[in-house]
Amino acid sequence: MLKENLHRVEERIERAAAHSGRRRDEIRLLAVTKKFPAAVIREAYQLGLREFAENYVQEFEGKHTELLDLAEARFHLIGHLQSNKARKAAELFDVVQTIDTAKLAERLSVVKPLDVLLEVRLSPEQTKEGAAPESLAGLIEAIETFSSLRLCGLMTMPPWSSNPEESRPYFARLRRLAEEHRLKDLSMGMSHDLEAAIEEGATMVRIGTALFGPRPKA
Ligand SMILES: *Cc1c(COP(=O)(O)O)cnc(C)c1O
Repeated sequence: MLKENLHRVEERIERAAAHSGRRRDEIRLLAVTKKFPAAVIREAYQLGLREFAENYVQEFEGKHTELLDLAEARFHLIGHLQSNKARKAAELFDVVQTIDTAKLAERLSVVKPLDVLLEVRLSPEQTKEGAAPESLAGLIEAIETFSSLRLCGLMTMPPWSSNPEESRPYFARLRRLAEEHRLKDLSMGMSHDLEAAIEEGATMVRIGTALFGPRPKA
């Protein structure tokens, strides 16, 4: 079933890329594996997936020891990060997508080289996490003082709506902000709205349900 789902997601990504005149290799597929056991990550790896995204530091801490042999896997943290878990997160993950304060950046900077993205909050209806667009310039400057952090881009999650067209203005806004601040990566788009995200410039789509089905209830 994962194999068929992956095939369908690949087709959707390819079609959306073609539709917007983009190359498939400009877009990375991140498999969102929160709440699924390590065995599911292994199965996805065996099917060729290499980038995985998790939401909870503690949950991933339990799984990652079973996955140490997946030499080419890269793990992204896409859930909100509390600064008291920053050190652990920097140990476990290759990419942290949810920086929204300078304090968090500082705590992440002392462990190992990390790729990072800033999480942006574009409207009051979004989750309370994320940096305000007005604070980006200051945050970017702060991150640049930490030589271990490589700032790759911006990430956002629009308010939930089953209609992908409702997400599109958020994606377009994130893209304009990235252009303004000369950042390359745009992490946006989930199972239901990946086409709109790709059309608006996503370089990473974060896909859970469309690959793995509904998440097990914890
Ligand atoms: C869970 C989650 C996803 C994946 O959502 P699906 O709708 O299952 O594809 C993407 N991004 C974030 C931040 C998430 O928490």
